[in-house]
Amino acid sequence: MTALTSLTANQQESIIQCPVCGSICSDTPIYKYSAVEAAAHFCPVTRNSQRNQRLLQSIRQLWKGDECSIIQCHECDFAFAYPYVAGDEQFYSILHEQYGYPRWRWDYDVAVKAVIDHSQKGRILDIGAGTGNFLKSLDSEWETYAVEGSDTTRNELEKAGIKVFPSLSDVVIKEAETFQVVMMFQVLEHIGEFQQVLAQCYQILKTQGKLLITVPDGKAMLQQEKITGCPDMPPNHLNKWTAKNLSLALEKSGFQVESVIKEPPSWQHLAYSLQLKIMHNAASNPNSIAARIYRIPNRKLRIPLLSLLAPISLFQLAGSINQLLQGESFGILAIKPSPN
Ligand SMILES: [Zn+2]
Repeated sequence: MTALTSLTANQQESIIQCPVCGSICSDTPIYKYSAVEAAAHFCPVTRNSQRNQRLLQSIRQLWKGDECSIIQCHECDFAFAYPYVAGDEQFYSILHEQYGYPRWRWDYDVAVKAVIDHSQKGRILDIGAGTGNFLKSLDSEWETYAVEGSDTTRNELEKAGIKVFPSLSDVVIKEAETFQVVMMFQVLEHIGEFQQVLAQCYQILKTQGKLLITVPDGKAMLQQEKITGCPDMPPNHLNKWTAKNLSLALEKSGFQVESVIKEPPSWQHLAYSLQLKIMHNAASNPNSIAARIYRIPNRKLRIPLLSLLAPISLFQLAGSINQLLQGESFGILAIKPSPN
């Protein structure tokens, strides 16, 4: 919390401090976004103007203004949104009206291969468990726990026999030093108080307990943004992590980093980049075919029509296909070491 507090205090003096390593960063941003651009990114006016306006209002409240920059630290390469403010419950409740939870992901395979297959069974906690697909896949010798903020999702998890806490602070109070394994899949890119979260993970793990974190690869995100033109927009993603700066943050919290696992290349990544390119084409020209298709409210009609535009985007991105096939995420496995 120290760096975060000093960051907020320093904002008035325009001194920007890296939330990970504490270095003073250049105030020249690598990107700058307006609240209008951000709201249009998450929900175009032409799709649903009422939702777009609610998002705009929520983003302005978060940023306490109309602008957000992306700053990169020259010391540890960490890139972050400035103002350094994460999306709140209101922002995500509007956003979640249009997105669902994915069923199975690369992260889960990593968790099984790197952790589950090599650990003594015991208590396992999934922070930000969503609908609990990963925990539900484990055999009954694991005692499954979840941290999940949403009331509706909490009920669903409890029905599946998972013990649920509304916040990580509750776990620290009730279950300190009892967990064998803690998982955090695609969470740490969204939150500002990551130091506090890592400290709490340390508190709840047993000695030699394992922490597995997966996040989008910050370097890949910046590259994808440059190639497709489609922003990795705050306040959804606040942090762009790399193996180097996430290792540093973990070590500062007392962890020992065991291994870094990179997501392998896949055609799915290229398909996703094509989708981003189509989104960018639609956003940059309201008269384009892409923009016209985006205005179609019926999803069942819109999605197949958009996919017809994929060959055009593929042609536009032809020079960068190799980069766009690369993994978009990475995982870090860390251990709570024995006291000296
Ligand atoms: Zn830094």
